[in-house]
Amino acid sequence: MLSDITSFHFKGYDFFIKRDELIHPLLSGNKYRKFYTLIQTPADTYNTIISYGGSQSNAMLAIAALCHQKGWAFAYICKPLPQHLKAKPTGNLKAALDLNMQLIEASDYDTKVSSLKNSGKTLLIPQGGADPLAQAGIMQLGNEITTWQATQNIDKLNIVTPSGTGTTAFYLAQTLPNCQIITTALVGDNTYLKQQMQQLGNIPNNLTLLESSKKYRFAKPYPEFLQTYEELKQNGVEFDLIYAPLMWQTLLDNMQHIQGTILYVHSGGLTGNATMLARYNLSL
Ligand SMILES: *Cc1c(COP(=O)(O)O)cnc(C)c1O
Repeated sequence: MLSDITSFHFKGYDFFIKRDELIHPLLSGNKYRKFYTLIQTPADTYNTIISYGGSQSNAMLAIAALCHQKGWAFAYICKPLPQHLKAKPTGNLKAALDLNMQLIEASDYDTKVSSLKNSGKTLLIPQGGADPLAQAGIMQLGNEITTWQATQNIDKLNIVTPSGTGTTAFYLAQTLPNCQIITTALVGDNTYLKQQMQQLGNIPNNLTLLESSKKYRFAKPYPEFLQTYEELKQNGVEFDLIYAPLMWQTLLDNMQHIQGTILYVHSGGLTGNATMLARYNLSL
């Protein structure tokens, strides 16, 4: 077992939480699971990793930590940084640069990204680790959950986790056909999320996409997200400020439709909280 499962009482309901945020300070949550294959890969297999995406991405920092451990170079392509961030990098960006990530700001981002490919000892990791390479690590997460479910004699198990690319939810559903996997889209809407998942294969029947009651833009600060974050924290577990608040809100809105035990898989992302709190004019 890479992480424990603890019970969690919230808003009058009983939940369990798979504490994947505690696996490692930088390489944590579902990023640890998604990059598990690479963590197990001998260092001489590659010498360079390339990836791309947002300049405060959790995946970016996880890959930077992985490359630092392995002695691999890491080149990361992003859109040109806003002036303040360029002058003074913060949060995940600062941490990744401190781990020797080479940041490439591309004004022709889309063109640049579409030209990237694997070559020799250089491996390309798609944005957010949305790649079949994530499957083995998420299968292991699924197997840990199955072992726990058997020892607890749980008949009907629902597993909840928020989606960016949907990679984690997709492979969890594939690994655990007898459980219901519940997720919600943080990037775009459910139609977009389904398209993303379909790139990995046919969407399993046991995967449920809950619709949030309101549209939110990805990674923006919303007062209700901060409130949910604070309530969760008061109940004893810190979650991230980008993905978890909407997942919890949407889950709570749908409790009357869910039967059986609920296990929330903590997806990590705590390293981004300081910069998100700063956007609410708060500090950690
Ligand atoms: C990356 C991330 C997600 C999204 O995971 P996907 O597999 O891309 O759906 C969810 N929560 C946190 C905290 C993340 O960092």
